[in-house]
Amino acid sequence: MNKGKEHITKDTLIFMLKTAKKEKPLLFFIYLIKFIAEVVPGMFAIILPKFLIDEIVKIIGGEPVEEHIYTIIFIAALIIGIELLSSLIISLAEQLKDIIREWFDQYFDMKLSSHAMTMDFEHTENPEVLDKLGKAKEGMSWYSGGVVGILDHLYKIIKSLAMLFGVSVVILLVCPMLIPVQIIALVIISVFNSKIQNINKKYFLRLSKLNRVGDYIFNELSDFRYGKDIRLYNSADMMCQKTDTIGKEMVDGWKQENREMFPHSMGMDIVNAVRDGISYFYIGYLVLTKAITIGDFQMSINGASRLYWSLFNIIQSVQELNTSCSYAHRYLEFTAFPCAMTKGTKSVKPGRHTIEFSHVSFKYPRSEKYVLRDINITINPGEHLSIVGLNGAGKTTFIKLLCRLYDVTEGEILVDGVNIKEYSDEEYRKLFSVVFQDYQLFAFSLRENIVLTEETDDNRVKEVLKQSGLYEDSLKLDHGLDTYLFKTYDEKGTELSGGQKQKTAISRALYRNAPVVILDEPTAALDPVAEYEIYRQFNSLVKGKTAIYISHRLSSCKFCDKIAVFADDTIKEYGTHDLLANKSNGIYAGMFAAQAQYYVKRA
Ligand code: ADP
Repeated sequence: MNKGKEHITKDTLIFMLKTAKKEKPLLFFIYLIKFIAEVVPGMFAIILPKFLIDEIVKIIGGEPVEEHIYTIIFIAALIIGIELLSSLIISLAEQLKDIIREWFDQYFDMKLSSHAMTMDFEHTENPEVLDKLGKAKEGMSWYSGGVVGILDHLYKIIKSLAMLFGVSVVILLVCPMLIPVQIIALVIISVFNSKIQNINKKYFLRLSKLNRVGDYIFNELSDFRYGKDIRLYNSADMMCQKTDTIGKEMVDGWKQENREMFPHSMGMDIVNAVRDGISYFYIGYLVLTKAITIGDFQMSINGASRLYWSLFNIIQSVQELNTSCSYAHRYLEFTAFPCAMTKGTKSVKPGRHTIEFSHVSFKYPRSEKYVLRDINITINPGEHLSIVGLNGAGKTTFIKLLCRLYDVTEGEILVDGVNIKEYSDEEYRKLFSVVFQDYQLFAFSLRENIVLTEETDDNRVKEVLKQSGLYEDSLKLDHGLDTYLFKTYDEKGTELSGGQKQKTAISRALYRNAPVVILDEPTAALDPVAEYEIYRQFNSLVKGKTAIYISHRLSSCKFCDKIAVFADDTIKEYGTHDLLANKSNGIYAGMFAAQAQYYVKRA
């Protein structure tokens, strides 16, 4: 995405304005009120003191006090009144803006999480995407200030333009030569300012990666889930060392950033001092030669400073707006991350389903190596298939392709004769209940871990807990189904045993009640006999449904109608247990003979 700077600013600005209009139109009203409360008193603050001083000078010059005192009191009261009222309105507007700013922070966090959870699965393994997610998060929050931060810059430009116009009129009338002095100073200062912005941007990119690693170290490693491994492997020192290194790198980064910015901010200070000196000298000269009154002197000094700051604010706000938009644009880039997968629209027809892999070959994204080649297999409705093979043979990849977490590189997968790319994702995924080897339990309640959607049927939850053998254990938990797992949400949350965790994952698959059930070695941590029991029970629970079991132990195979043996990136053997077990020199026959001791008793 190689867009020009103007496009980035324009696109981001339009996005921010539209989002504010859609979600919080009140924000525009707040800016309007703030504008009135800042610009009107701002102009009064330049003009009114002139009249006040001129009146006082007249009294000093010998004119009767009574003639001027009421005007003086009136002007003074007006200045104080306007000042008070405007500060009150501005502070109220700022408070409201802060609330809206917080609201938008949450809003964008939610949008990002939801996009990250629903984008093409392959992106979740792409380091470039992870980096982009980090930058989008930071860019839309504290680096740009989000909607409010960016609209603040826009507001500042509009307000400063209005002030500039008013002040220029005043100065042109009194001492026009002040204008070029301010403009020259400003041009020099903007050069320094733009250098500072560039340095900021350079370090944003550099520090973003460090922030991501830092977040991982500071937040994730303190998670209790890692507690056991860290203690048992005595890794605390190694972790602290990493924390130390990353902390030092971050501090070094900030120090370097400040060192680079220092000469530029010094330059700005010097130009400011010279500009003030010249302005005072020139206006003082006009007063001494009686070309202007003392009131005019005050107004010009005040006006010159306002003129300068208005111009400065415009240039600085334009630069800041550009910079902030380039940060926030990372959010737009991330949310528009291309969807490589075609999105189908077809509905899956109800009932039982035939699954067919036809000449399917696959290599992972960003990899040149095929992990599956020319896979051809048909799984009939209600059939139970066991997939066996050594580690790395491609069994899990086969399941990932079937669930359409990835698209095939060659060939096609058909369900009921239709290429799965043509089905709507949401509809298609409803076909499967999968328990992966690396299934994840969340730090939510036991019930939520099983249901995983918003609609809960407690009777069914209890039923599946009974089926998976976890019901008795769940009754012993402090808060039953409401007991939280892990300590993240609830400090009294529970830690389930390995077996209980597996049963929770299996309950989740049963609760979903999908027509195709897949177990991808979720029982790897169990001994062969316990695994045999789980598969046996599970097999009877899913009778009538299509089931696919993966295991490199053969305990699952005996209940299955068909067995597919994966080796050398493809299906090497396929058939019933009896057929394959008796095949001379067969891979399955060899594996079965080696493992038979575990199952002989039960065969
Ligand atoms: P199995 O389930 O039979 O143990 P997998 O399907 O997990 O095997 O892996 C098959 C091959 O694909 C292995 O060589 C593995 O390293 C590779 N692989 C698995 N996941 C990925 C991935 N996300 N990116 C790249 N290669 C992968």
